[in-house]
Amino acid sequence: MATVLVLVTTADGAADKVSLQALTLGRGLAAGGPVHALVIGDEGAAAGLGPWGATHVHVARHPELDAGTTAPDAWGRILDDLAASLGAGIVVGPGTETGNTVVARAAARAGLPFAANCTSVAAGDPVTVTRVRWGGSLLEEAAIHADRAMLTVAPHAIVASEAGGTAAVEAFTPALDDADLAVRVVGTVPAPTGGVSLADAKVVVSGGRGAGSAEGFAPIVDLAGLLGAAVGCSRAVTIAGWRPHTEQVGQTGTKIAPDLYIACGISGATQHLAGCKGAKRILAINKDPEATIMSAADYAVIGDLHEVVPAISAEIRRVRGL
Ligand SMILES: Cc1cc2nc3c(=O)[nH]c(=O)nc-3n(C[C@H](O)[C@H](O)[C@H](O)COP(=O)(O)OP(=O)(O)OC[C@H]3O[C@@H](n4cnc5c(N)ncnc54)[C@H](O)[C@@H]3O)c2cc1C
Repeated sequence: MATVLVLVTTADGAADKVSLQALTLGRGLAAGGPVHALVIGDEGAAAGLGPWGATHVHVARHPELDAGTTAPDAWGRILDDLAASLGAGIVVGPGTETGNTVVARAAARAGLPFAANCTSVAAGDPVTVTRVRWGGSLLEEAAIHADRAMLTVAPHAIVASEAGGTAAVEAFTPALDDADLAVRVVGTVPAPTGGVSLADAKVVVSGGRGAGSAEGFAPIVDLAGLLGAAVGCSRAVTIAGWRPHTEQVGQTGTKIAPDLYIACGISGATQHLAGCKGAKRILAINKDPEATIMSAADYAVIGDLHEVVPAISAEIRRVRGL
């Protein structure tokens, strides 16, 4: 049975959602055997991993690596070193930008292949995976011919589930050179989301080129406010400079899994759908009944978003007596 090591990244002192999904997958691959987890810098998150199936949590501490400081080369080296010292046969990370960046570096250091964004994984010799390719338009089945399978889990492809249990927390002291720390995140600027995170929002109201302008987003932002939703957008919008990249949904934006995704004036390009196909329900508001988004939508309103969206908001206000 392969030894399994899971990279856990954190936010606000706890494992992030996609890392818990990775841990759930790792637990399944370990099939009752030990599940090792690696947390870098953020010691506070370690104790909370036992209930999610980690049996051993390794906390890498280094004076230059406080909680919230990501140094991709250093993290890759730490992951590679720990995997080697444990003799890990499978290393799993979250398929986020950080997770993919770090696991790719760890794989490169060891000269191993790397399978990113897996939706399912079967342990064995070789380990076999199904993974998302080409912006979500293709699912590839592949076998990893290597002594150690290095992979990440596509966001929201696995439902995170608790297993109960407690984890032994151990310190891992990494050896790092200045070169490993040359590239690192030295600060973060919170996105102006109005308090609702795009990645975690239950409802997302998103606008595309059909909004027409930055000012044309006013009814979309208004509806999002009424629904307690996050505002999203397409790449056409971020390229035009109407909204920030932090709001972009898609292959090169954020991948979301809300209960409801309201896509206003968005055509539904493959690269956009790659980011929103995790939504439980999609409502498309579009002038064009033939738009590609219609084939992905559960509900559709054919019309001008500048009329339809304010009408929805007006009805919400009427019902709520606002
Ligand atoms: C490598 C790569 C990565 C990419 N990554 C992403 C990504 O992460 N996210 C992303 O979104 N795109 C991405 N794209 C771009 C993608 O291919 C599309 O170009 C983009 O999604 C189109 O945005 P859109 O739907 O807003 O615009 P359009 O395709 O121009 O569609 C506008 C839609 O609005 C409708 N419309 C117009 N006026 C109105 C109105 N008044 N009321 C209602 N409907 C109206 C039209 O009927 C049309 O369907 C990527 C492309 C590449 C090559």
